[in-house]
Amino acid sequence: MVVPSIKYQLFNMQDESVLAKGLVERIGLEGSVLTHQPAGKDKVVLNGDIKNHSIGIKMVLDALTHPDYGVISSMKEISAVGHRVVHGGEKFADSVLITPEVMKALEDCIEMAPLHNPPNILGINACAELMPGVPQVGVFDTAFHQTMPKHAFLYGLPYEAYEKYGLRRYGFHGTSHKYVSQRAAELMGQHMSNLRIITCHLGNGASIAAVKYGKSVDTSMGFTPLEGLVMGTRSGEIDPAIIPFLMKKEGMTADQIDTYLNKKSGVLGISGVSSDFRDIEEAAAAGNERAQLALDIFAYKVKKFIGGYVAAMGGVDAIVFTAGLGENSPSMRDKICNGLEYLGTRIDPVKNNIRGKAQEISVDGAKVKIFVIPTNEELVIARDTKAICASLV
Ligand code: AMP
Repeated sequence: MVVPSIKYQLFNMQDESVLAKGLVERIGLEGSVLTHQPAGKDKVVLNGDIKNHSIGIKMVLDALTHPDYGVISSMKEISAVGHRVVHGGEKFADSVLITPEVMKALEDCIEMAPLHNPPNILGINACAELMPGVPQVGVFDTAFHQTMPKHAFLYGLPYEAYEKYGLRRYGFHGTSHKYVSQRAAELMGQHMSNLRIITCHLGNGASIAAVKYGKSVDTSMGFTPLEGLVMGTRSGEIDPAIIPFLMKKEGMTADQIDTYLNKKSGVLGISGVSSDFRDIEEAAAAGNERAQLALDIFAYKVKKFIGGYVAAMGGVDAIVFTAGLGENSPSMRDKICNGLEYLGTRIDPVKNNIRGKAQEISVDGAKVKIFVIPTNEELVIARDTKAICASLV
C-alpha cells in the first residue's frame, strides 16, 4: 500500500526565509513519525500514533507553535496555506484559491492521478478543518505545461479519446521547470521572453521541458508521470505493444503491469542494483556492466530529448540541470552533455565539479549556457500562494 507522507515548510514571506520544515511519514502505519527542523535549531523527531492526515497536520501545527522547538507563537500567525497538487487536468493553467468548486474539480481528476490526488484532497480537507478561514491555495504540477500547443500534447490516438477521457499529455514537475527556467534567465541577466531554455529535472522521477520565451511548449511526461525518460523505477516511453504482449505471455493483470512499469523498471530494472543513482554509479565504477548500461541508457535518452527540444524550439540558449541527480552528479551531467558541441556548448570540467549550488558549468564564452540550479518547488508554492492571497484584499 502506498502511504502518502506530508512534507511542509513554513516561510516568512517578507524575506522568503524558511522558518521550519519537516516531514510526517508512515501515516496510518506502525512507527509513524514527524521529523521537524526549526531553522537554526536541532532537528526534533516526534513519534506518535499518526492515524490519518488530520492528526498529522495537527502534529505539524503543534510543532510549529511549540514553546521549545516551535517558530511561531500561535497558529494565527499562519496567513495562508499552499498545497502542491499533482494533477490539475486541463482545468488549471495557474494556481488557484481553493473553493468548493475547485475541490470538485480535483475530485474529477482522481481518475487521472489515483495515487496522488486523493492524498492532496485529504491534506486540503485536514487544513481546512484545523485552520478555518485561512485561505488555501492549490499549486498544480501540471499547470506550467498548460501552454503546450495541441500538436505537442495530443497522442496519435482517435481524437475521441481526448474528447471523451481527456487522454492527452499533461506533463508534471511544472513548479520545478518554472522555477529553474526563471532562475536561469536571472543568472543570464536576461528576460525569459528572449530565451529558449531546456530544463532537465533529473531525480527519482525525471522529466525535461522545452521552455520557449517563458512558456512550456513541450515536456517529456505525458498523461501520467510514467512517460518520457527512463527513471529510477519507471520505464519511461516504451512501445505500447509491449503491454498486451506481457499480459499474454506472463498472464499479467492491468494492475500488475502498472506495478511492473512504475516500480520495477527504469534504472532499477535495467541494472538489477538499485533505483538510487549513487548505488548505480558506485556499482558501475566497480565494474558492474548492467549498472553501466543503466547509466548509458539514462544519459542517451536525456541527450535525445535535448536534441528533440532544440529542434522543437528552433534553437536553445540554455540547458539547466536540477533535482537529486541533476544537481549532484557531475559525471552524469558530463555524460549527457558530451557530444553537444555542435550546439556551441561544452561543459567546463572544473566548473562542473559542484553539487547542489546554482552555477554556470559551461566553458567561458559558450554560445549555449549550461547551468546547475537547485530546484525550489516549495518557494514557488509559497510565492504563488502569497500572490493569490494579495489579490483577495
Ligand atoms: P529527487 O527525486 O530529486 O530527490 O532525486 C533523487 C535521486 O537523486 C536519487 O536517485 C539519488 O540517487 C540521486 N542523487 C542524490 N544525490 C546524488 C549524488 N550525490 N550522486 C548521484 N545521484 C544522486
